[in-house]
Amino acid sequence: MLKENLIQVEEKINAACQRAGRSRSEVTLIAVSKTKPIPMLSEIYAEGIRNFGENKVQEILEKHEELPNDIKWHMIGHLQRNKVKSVIDKVSLIHSVDSFRLAEEINIQAKKKNITVPILVQVNIAGEDTKFGITREDAIVLTEQIAELDNLRIQGLMTIAPLVNDPEDNRQYFRGIRQLSVDIRNKNIDNVCMDILSMGMTGDYEVAIEEGATMVRVGTGIFGARNYNK
Ligand SMILES: *Cc1c(COP(=O)(O)O)cnc(C)c1O
Repeated sequence: MLKENLIQVEEKINAACQRAGRSRSEVTLIAVSKTKPIPMLSEIYAEGIRNFGENKVQEILEKHEELPNDIKWHMIGHLQRNKVKSVIDKVSLIHSVDSFRLAEEINIQAKKKNITVPILVQVNIAGEDTKFGITREDAIVLTEQIAELDNLRIQGLMTIAPLVNDPEDNRQYFRGIRQLSVDIRNKNIDNVCMDILSMGMTGDYEVAIEEGATMVRVGTGIFGARNYNK
């Protein structure tokens, strides 16, 4: 069942890469497994998936404990400062850094553990009130500020595009984020690289890939609809 979903997603990723003249190896598929039980994660782990995305610290901690340790866990949800300490050495990338206060806390806790934490800056490119993330202008300032912190390394940008019926409507936003990452890269800030663009979800990942996504976060397309009432 999940295997068939995964094959379909793979086909679409491949086709999008081809249309954009990109190599499949440039795009990492993150299976967004939030709310899904461990046997479902194991099922697609068996199909070769190693990147999983979660939006709650508690869920990462539990699943990290149970599942093989070659999995790369991606924190894609809003991160509270009081939860930073417990999760930073369990995740391979935090996609959702959107304030200097959060970055500072990550830096403090990373220093204590003697690690460097890779992060993305989350940009609210469409300016929606309902979304976390910061404006384009603030992203540039925040990147410059975070660059001063020793135990954290900015690897790129992340965005959650609006929920739309036609994924073409989000092309402008993906293009905007891509341009922002080029603008930041051109500033040549020490300790900052812009190799990762985390954008595109089940409804729009093909367009995101066409516009330069290097990580797509696909939940429903792999695991089916989420049930929050259970
Ligand atoms: C839930 C979630 C996704 C996956 O959404 P789908 O539409 O199910 O693919 C991707 N990114 C973030 C940040 C999410 O919270």
